[in-house]
Amino acid sequence: MFGKNPVERSEIDGDGKSLRVVRGSPFYTIQGEGPFAGMPAVFLRLHGCPLRCYFCDTEFSSPQDPRYNVSHIQELIRDAGDTASGKQCRLLVITGGEPVRQNLEGLVAWARVSGWTVQVETSGILWQDCLTLTEIVVSPKTGVINEDIAFHARAFKYVISATAESDRADGLPILNTQDANGKPIRLARPWDHSLGMSEVYLSPMDEYDPVKNEANVKEVARLAMKHGYRAGLQLHKHFNLP
Ligand code: SF4
Repeated sequence: MFGKNPVERSEIDGDGKSLRVVRGSPFYTIQGEGPFAGMPAVFLRLHGCPLRCYFCDTEFSSPQDPRYNVSHIQELIRDAGDTASGKQCRLLVITGGEPVRQNLEGLVAWARVSGWTVQVETSGILWQDCLTLTEIVVSPKTGVINEDIAFHARAFKYVISATAESDRADGLPILNTQDANGKPIRLARPWDHSLGMSEVYLSPMDEYDPVKNEANVKEVARLAMKHGYRAGLQLHKHFNLP
């Protein structure tokens, strides 16, 4: 995290019968961002990422992270989604790290057949055909993303810092995510959100500084009102949930 994680290679070519998960995953929480914000969800956080963003505040690269067979992960997801009232949660969020770097085919097929809505949160640099069965939310961290991801994305999400540059025309970030002092790059854009092909959500960067965070929240509101995007607040943090 915070740009210190090891850069992990893609394992998409693996058989998908096992996945390396972050310790403590899956877990039951409230989805804090994007099109399903506010909904109870089972989160499956997968180990590792091929990128190293300087502002990343997610733990996803411990050497102790376990590798489980997908059949065991299915049991854990079912158990995590059993609510106190006896109703079964049916929203599964697969996130990371970068979840698409591991072969998701078996897990996604099981989840869809079992009645789960599956949301995948990705930086958009990789593709697998099974993603067509999911709700893809892309949070671009690079200037170019995979064309299939761009085409199939349900929504785009951008992290906003009041001190980072934004494009005058669309208000979206021009930011070097891999080096805070590096040359800013225009992060990949949705193909055409004005046609309703995707939705654009803005989230304030958490800089672990109350003054900076307040400025970031105000910047989210300003950009959303100016450009017609959806403003978000990372709700799970307000509920003190993971
Ligand atoms: S792509 Fe996402 S998970 Fe990977 S380092 Fe960047 S912010 Fe963290």
